Formats: sequence, C-alpha cells, structure tokens
Amino acid sequence: MELRRITDRVFYTMFSKESDRPTLGYINGEKRSLMVDAGNSKNHLESFNDAVNNEGFRKPGIIAITHWHWDHTFGMHAADGVTIAHQKTNAKLAEMAMWEWTDSEMKKRLAEKVEIEFADTCIRNEYPLLSEIRVVTSDLSFSGFMEIDLGGITAQLHHVASPHSEDSVCVLVPQERVLFIGDAVGLDYYNNCYLDKDKLRSLLTTIEGFDFDTCVVGHAEPVSKQKIVEVMHSLLER
Ligand SMILES: [Zn+2]
Repeated sequence: MELRRITDRVFYTMFSKESDRPTLGYINGEKRSLMVDAGNSKNHLESFNDAVNNEGFRKPGIIAITHWHWDHTFGMHAADGVTIAHQKTNAKLAEMAMWEWTDSEMKKRLAEKVEIEFADTCIRNEYPLLSEIRVVTSDLSFSGFMEIDLGGITAQLHHVASPHSEDSVCVLVPQERVLFIGDAVGLDYYNNCYLDKDKLRSLLTTIEGFDFDTCVVGHAEPVSKQKIVEVMHSLLER
C-alpha cells in the first residue's frame, strides 16, 4: 500500500476489492495530521500507517469517520490517535459492538437481514479469524458540523443528507480544495439498495456548494467536482 498524492498536504491510499477496503485519506497539517476513515481492520490501518511512515510523515493524531459501515470503522480500535465520529455513527457502532463475531451468529444476522450478504462475504475475506473483530465507538462525537485546525490547514466535518447512510459525513479541506465523501453518493445497501432521490438531491446541492477541485470517494479513484456532480445527475435520472 502506498500513499498517493493529491496535493502537497493531502494524500490517500487506494481501495481494494477483495475485502472491500475503502480509500483512506491523510491530511498533513503543521501541528497534527488527520486520517479519513479507520479502515476495515487492524491490518488495514497498520498498512496505512506503514505507507505514511514510508513518506516520512507522522502517524495521524486524529481519525475522522465518514459513516458506520464496517469497512470504514473496524480499524478504529487499533488507532493511536483520537477518533471522531458523528453521534449517529456512534449509535450504530455501539449496537454493533454488542454483536458476537462467530460463524453461527453472523449466519443468524444474515438470516434475520440485520447484515447483508456483501458485507458478510467481505468481512470473512478480511478476517480469517473472526474472533479478531473489534468494534468500538469513537473518542469524540459531534453532530452537524465540526472544524479541526491541523496547523496551517483545516479539516471541516460536515454531516450531510445522503442516500447511502443517515450518518454520512463529508470532510472538506478548503485550503487544498479537496473533499472526502466516503460512500455518500451511493445506494442504501442495508435497505435493498434503495435510492432515496430526495436525499440525493439534497446531497447534490450540498456538494455543489462546496468549493473544491478533487473529490475522494470510498471505493473508486478520486474524481473532479464536475465528474461527481455528473454522476449524481445520472443517478437522479435513473
Ligand atoms: Zn458504506
């Protein structure tokens, strides 16, 4: 895994399909640095930290979460820095922290439609030993909006309406004109892949209102502002 440069101060690591690892962001401030999403496991998070170390950068002191889905949050327990998530994200994580991660309990959650097939398959790919799964809530939580001064550069955490999940948070770095959106432009996989067009319209307005050049998405290559707006328009026309 290697850190890919977007600007001199903003980087990301690549997603991978096998166990649905999402892209992870790195925002390098003068005083501290921030990671966007915690990865889907301790292994994922540690690969990210190795990539950061290889560039001679410091480990992230803050880890901001875009939404509750396992692939973005199951690395949280292994992070050294302070984790930050939306209150709705934490509510869901608190629920999942009670779950047992055994073959039989996972099959039960699938049968009861608490969990979805795709996540179940990818979790099993990431974790040969299911007993290694740890789910935790974040150290800090917020609702609405939060701004973090990293030293010469800021990270703005915006809770946004999204058809993907109720707790979606976008991370805007105004100085570098980069926006991290996680999976916000996506279907609701936990609701039969439903696409709520009202929420998508609202998200489109929000994203159009942000001043940025590059949009980092959860499971694809970064795109331009124009491109993400086009994607949203084409989803609306479906
Ligand atoms: Zn997701």
